[in-house]
Parts: sequence; C-alpha cells; structure tokens
Amino acid sequence: MRRFCEVGLIVLFSQLYSFNQEILTAIMGSKKRTPLIRHLLNTFILLIIVTVGYVCYTIIYDLRVHIINRSELNDLAGINADYAARFERFVNDIENESGWKVKIISGLRSRDEQIQLKRDNPRNAAVSKSRHVLGRAIDINLYKRVGLSTLLLKKSSSKASWRKTGVPEIAKRYQLLWGGTYRNYHDPVHFEIN
Ligand SMILES: [Zn+2]
Repeated sequence: MRRFCEVGLIVLFSQLYSFNQEILTAIMGSKKRTPLIRHLLNTFILLIIVTVGYVCYTIIYDLRVHIINRSELNDLAGINADYAARFERFVNDIENESGWKVKIISGLRSRDEQIQLKRDNPRNAAVSKSRHVLGRAIDINLYKRVGLSTLLLKKSSSKASWRKTGVPEIAKRYQLLWGGTYRNYHDPVHFEIN
C-alpha cells in the first residue's frame, strides 16, 4: 500500500511538473528562452502547491479527529457525565504534555457491538465484562507528525513505545486502568475506570 502511494505521488508530481511547464511556457513564451529560470520557477510553484496541500490535509485531518473525539465523549457523557469529563481531561493532558495527538477509536459500545467484537475475536471482552458497554472505557491511538511523516501508536505497537509517551503515567493521575498492564492480553490502546 505504501509503495502504491509512493508511485502515485511520483506520477502526480511529474504530471504537475509538466502541467506547470506548459503554463510557464504559455506565460514566458518559447521553451528555449531562459530554461533555468523556468525550471526554478516550476520547482518553486510545485513546492508551494505541495506545502499548501499538506498543510490543508493536516488541518482537515485534525479537525475530523477533533469532531470524532467530541462525539465519542458526548456519547459517554450520555451515560455518566463525570466519567466523560474525566476522560476529556485525560485526553487534554496527553495533548498538552506529551506532544502526541489523541484519536479516540472506541468509546461507548452497544451490547450488540460488543457481542460482534467477541465473535470476531474470542479474546475480546464479553458483554458482561466490557467497560465500554458501561461507558467506562476508551480506546485511543496516538499520532505525531515529524517532518512529512506521521508516527502512529496503535494496538499493535509495543508497550515500551506507549510507556515512552508518558501516557500511562497521565492515566494514573485519573485513576484509569491501562490495558497495557493486562497479563494475557495486549491492549495498550485501552484505558478504563474500573
Ligand atoms: Zn477498550
């Protein structure tokens, strides 16, 4: 998939480059005239397009995450406003202190959703045991942009890399049990009020 995206980007850039060349030729006249300036201008314009495109993409991505987080917290507040407020402060502290952004990937779950999850993977909690059904748990991913790449911490990431973010320590502050402490199940995305 990554390879596919890279090839796609290269094709897109080369198309943009030749499209720019056409426009610049139309503006500046003959292709033979000042080719160096034309190439420099072309590269400069491409850089601006890529930068603006990337900035727009990150703004839209963060906004979408913010809206999803808000909606998950609102659903939790529908069950218990105090618990939801505790999770909200936890999320805010992570973003203010760790340098990572939070994406809530699961909050309140219906009984049916939990039954389906248990069916998909027997290692998932049963309805009677899941704190998500009671509105007392959230699963989160963490992401951070470094240069043009985005680091992502998810369920399959190691406990050590989660610990390094300081998030399990922040969880202690709010008396949240971290799924990274489970003995027989790797669930570092999970934080619950038990
Ligand atoms: Zn969970």
